[in-house]
Amino acid sequence: MSGLLPSAKEQNKAACHICGRAQDAQNERCERCHTPLHVRKHDSIQRCLAFCVASVLAYIPANIWPIMIVHEFGSAEPTTIFGGVIQFWESKVYSVSIIIFTASVLIPGLKLASLCWLCAVSKGWMKTEGQFATKIYWVTELVGRWSMLDVFVVAILVGLIQVGNIMSITAGPAVIAFALMVIFTMIAAHSFDPRGIWDHIRQNEKQPRPH
Ligand SMILES: [Zn+2]
Repeated sequence: MSGLLPSAKEQNKAACHICGRAQDAQNERCERCHTPLHVRKHDSIQRCLAFCVASVLAYIPANIWPIMIVHEFGSAEPTTIFGGVIQFWESKVYSVSIIIFTASVLIPGLKLASLCWLCAVSKGWMKTEGQFATKIYWVTELVGRWSMLDVFVVAILVGLIQVGNIMSITAGPAVIAFALMVIFTMIAAHSFDPRGIWDHIRQNEKQPRPH
């Protein structure tokens, strides 16, 4: 079982996250490239959860405020993210509707939920297989690279539709709240230290099982 082998932390070793050199964990800076050395990211779970909360808080105005304002025949109609999803769906532009829904509701929601779950696993509040939690972390990281997608979608839409004379779209204040939400989620994901998942599982393995 992989769990029985000692981790680098238990052997008092740490790898530099810049140059990869394995060395004494007591070193304050990497002996090769002088980067500050961390065995684990400092306050990783607290920071991750704090930025998750900030992200949820930014997500509220992102959904309440208009994300875009449609100017048509002299009238201006503000639309929220969800209003936009419905509007595009009703106009039978299903692809745009699905892209907006996926990028602005589905992905951020799943990403925040999985980060909170990973924090709970690292804290030992929830029990799961380490390999499964690692896979979830890996998917979260991968998906995170696409989380700016929605900002691009809005930018493209604004650019595209402004070309026409009849209808034009300008970005609403929710774009700023949405961008903040995306940034906070990115910092939350970056703060999380996946090695923490295994620290807790190893602790459980060392404890004698009750008979
Ligand atoms: Zn180094």
